Amino acid sequence: MPAITADTLTLPRVAVPDPAVTVQRPVRVVTTAPSGFEGEGFPVRRAFAGVPASTLDPFLHMDQMGEVEYAPGEPKGTPWHPHRGFETVTYIIDGIFEHQDSNGGGGTITDGDTQWMTAGAGILHIEKPPEHLVLSGGLFHGVQLWVNLPRSDKFSPPRYQDIRGRQAALLSSDDGGTLLRVIAGELAGHTGPGSTFTPISLVHATLSPGARLNLPWNPGFNALAYVLAGQGSAGDERRPVRKGQLAVFGPGDALTLAADPGQPSAEPNLEVLVLGGRPIKEPVVHYGPFVMNTRAEIVKAMEDYQAGRLGVIPAERVPHAHGEFPGEE
Ligand code: MN
Repeated sequence: MPAITADTLTLPRVAVPDPAVTVQRPVRVVTTAPSGFEGEGFPVRRAFAGVPASTLDPFLHMDQMGEVEYAPGEPKGTPWHPHRGFETVTYIIDGIFEHQDSNGGGGTITDGDTQWMTAGAGILHIEKPPEHLVLSGGLFHGVQLWVNLPRSDKFSPPRYQDIRGRQAALLSSDDGGTLLRVIAGELAGHTGPGSTFTPISLVHATLSPGARLNLPWNPGFNALAYVLAGQGSAGDERRPVRKGQLAVFGPGDALTLAADPGQPSAEPNLEVLVLGGRPIKEPVVHYGPFVMNTRAEIVKAMEDYQAGRLGVIPAERVPHAHGEFPGEE
């Protein structure tokens, strides 16, 4: 897994929270992500399926894309599609993804890079592997997270943050057994590069076999831990978790994860995306690629899209005939 790696012995260490003054977050539930297909048919796990929206708030949706080893000619992306009212955060662990949008923006993200796209008032975009990867095939593994915007920011101008893997704040657990990559927000006083509208923390943790991780976690945030690879446990109560499972934590100001001493041969470490944020606590009406506060705003978004007010596909590109609304639930 070529997401950014580092020698944990050289990194700043996150101290174990003092048990005398710390409430460990209990594990409320462990869910298993169902598998499906996105866009033109790339395999995904729906990481948040079955979890109530109020528990996820300020997050909306998350797909683990792959991990998949594509044969030549097989890599797939999405067709052109619109978004309004939220942010899409794409974190590529292995492989390459290209994006292009109706404002003429675009770029390439690979191995540990994150593209943070604020759709805001509206944008059209396409996300796909580059031609050479389509020809060669190869490994592809990433995550796309949808972050809601509060009512006051839903009509913000669209923007991108291209966050390179090496820009993440790299930290180590107290015992050196875990590498922590802070992509956005704050962890133990260390701040990642991603700028967010609502306060959130997004961390990719790699736990060596047998490692135990005890992290301070903002008590005003929710706390979710999604296992990208490997197996281990969540919480002081050591609830078993494995690849494709989400642990939802209850209230408190610290959380615990642990990697089993023995890991699957193809997954040498426990890889976990740990995320949380301050709930927005507003009504959410989600239809396909639009996330607004009211039904009327969804209708308006569809009208605006049809009228080309969210942007138009650049002339040299041919629109795709199917799968207009990826992420539609
Ligand atoms: Mn999209």
